[in-house]
Amino acid sequence: MNPFKSGYVGIIGKPNVGKSTLLNYFLKQKLAIISEKPQTTRTRIMGILTQPDYQIIFIDTPGVHLPKDQLHAFMQSQITGTIQEVDLLLFLIAANEPFDDEDQMALTILQKRTSPVILVINKIDLDRLKAEKLQRTIFDPKTFCAIHLISALTGIGGSDLLQKIITLLPEGPQYYPEDTLTDRNERFYIAELVREKVYKLTQQEIPYSVAIITDEVKERTAALTYVKATIYVERESQKKILIGVNGKKLKEIGQAARKEVEQLLQKKVYLDLWIKVKKNWRKDPVALKQLGMK
Ligand code: GDP
Ligand code: MG
Repeated sequence: MNPFKSGYVGIIGKPNVGKSTLLNYFLKQKLAIISEKPQTTRTRIMGILTQPDYQIIFIDTPGVHLPKDQLHAFMQSQITGTIQEVDLLLFLIAANEPFDDEDQMALTILQKRTSPVILVINKIDLDRLKAEKLQRTIFDPKTFCAIHLISALTGIGGSDLLQKIITLLPEGPQYYPEDTLTDRNERFYIAELVREKVYKLTQQEIPYSVAIITDEVKERTAALTYVKATIYVERESQKKILIGVNGKKLKEIGQAARKEVEQLLQKKVYLDLWIKVKKNWRKDPVALKQLGMK
């Protein structure tokens, strides 16, 4: 039998290139929330893929961009930390977009690493020609040990990339029990699902101004679980928008989130959503900590 291989694999790139989609593809599970709005991922999320002869611990990171407030600074620290700790890095860019300053910034951050980097051009289902052109201009064998063209959404090229990752992993122990999928608990995922629905159903600054905490998860009967979650916003005006006329918006968010929380818990759920104002929490280190970003 082959020796057991294991390691940490960081997924890095600017916002919206498909990092979280790729994590979910590898894990065949919805671990990370996804939206068409940039900066959906705030904290590092670990996804653990265990097979008889290998274990890969994927780390999905927030997108690389210039920090504007404490939340951004926190998000960036999640990236620089990841780069130092992993055995292998996947640097993602999107086939349907030009290679821009943000990609360049992500690449510059990567220059500080010691581990090998695979260049991954994602979204080739949208523009294969551009992908091939990017491949010719961006790929540089001094920086990257390999290049893969994939679509994380449709799965094109995904298994080849996985094989390459396994080849590059060092021999090592099984770090986590085989049934462990992630380092996050149920409450974290419930809050993330609510956040995803807020992102989907609101506009402008609202998505970036919310933080969600799951306060309670309680089995009421064998058939029904009670879940209480609070949506924190920065201003009264945002609270009003989130509630909507006659509570319509909040109801919409609640219904959409409940369906997914039911899938997650595999139970019927009563989702009790609350909204509270925590003034300027994004700029306040103490509030960030209270809201789970530490
Ligand atoms: P992240 O910010 O890098 O984590 O990006 P997400 O995984 O949240 O994806 C951003 C958007 O791109 C979402 O709307 C995804 O559905 C979409 N997306 C991701 N991968 C692909 C892909 O391979 N093809 C297409 N067409 N869309 C994709
Ligand atoms: Mg993401």
